[in-house]
Amino acid sequence: MDIIDLAQQHELMLREQAVATARARGMDAVPVYINGRKRCVSCNRLIPLKRIQARPDAVRCVACEEKLEKS
Ligand SMILES: [Zn+2]
Repeated sequence: MDIIDLAQQHELMLREQAVATARARGMDAVPVYINGRKRCVSCNRLIPLKRIQARPDAVRCVACEEKLEKS
């Protein structure tokens, strides 16, 4: 095994960890749209327009995102 193989193994391990972390944080959650408005995947309330403008990829309201980040 040479240094390239070792580097590839390390990259794979890091990628798997990153995917697992993203899944645990719900980053693969599919946004919910009802009547064209995006809803929080956790509490089902409308995500405020200002949050969508600030974070277009957001799938949770600020309160639920903070709860998730603290857990
Ligand atoms: Zn919420």
